Amino acid sequence: MIEDKLQQLRRRVAAACAQAGRDVNAVTLLAVSKTFGPDAVAQALAAGQHAFGENYIQEGVEKILALRASHPGAALEWHCIGPVQSNKTRLVAAHFDWVHSVDRLKIAQRLSEQRPPELAPLQVCLQVNVDGGATKSGVTPGELPALAAAVAALPRLRLRGLMCIPESSDSFESQRTVFLQARALFDDLNACGLGLDTLSMGMSDDLDAALAAGATLVRVGRAVFGSRTTRT
Ligand SMILES: *Cc1c(COP(=O)(O)O)cnc(C)c1O
Repeated sequence: MIEDKLQQLRRRVAAACAQAGRDVNAVTLLAVSKTFGPDAVAQALAAGQHAFGENYIQEGVEKILALRASHPGAALEWHCIGPVQSNKTRLVAAHFDWVHSVDRLKIAQRLSEQRPPELAPLQVCLQVNVDGGATKSGVTPGELPALAAAVAALPRLRLRGLMCIPESSDSFESQRTVFLQARALFDDLNACGLGLDTLSMGMSDDLDAALAAGATLVRVGRAVFGSRTTRT
């Protein structure tokens, strides 16, 4: 079941890349396993999926430890994609490989200080609020360059790119328009020499538009694991 969905999704990603004239090998598929148990992750792993995204830190850490115990030596990569409060930075720094949702320098500093020395640097994307929802998380486009420069200088983090979560929309064109704004911010930072390689955008309902706009990583939950019955 999960295997079939993953195959369908890979075909969908390949078709969107072909449509956009892009190399499908340049796109990472992140399976968002939030609310699903370790068994679901194990099934996806058996179907060749290695990168997983979690929103809730505590739930994610429990799953990371469960999979480490049940599949020792498996090449799993764990991405934290949900809000990170100050009191959770230590857990994130100790257990995750990536964080996509950094939007404040204070959080980045804590993650850098708390990243255990024996682990590789924590791979970081800055979450940017492209469409300007006042209550949404994410750094504003205006504040982005200064935050990016400061985060890039932290010793135990490696700044890889940007992440965005636009308002949902049914229209491919309006989805693509917002994603292109994120793409422009990404290109601007690279023009300043930041060397970013990751543009994390697109979910089950809008990944085709995100890929058309240049996403290098799509975060997909429902199209892999089915609909969530608990909190989203
Ligand atoms: C839940 C979530 C996803 C996956 O959403 P789906 O609609 O299930 O594909 C991706 N990114 C973030 C930040 C999420 O919270």
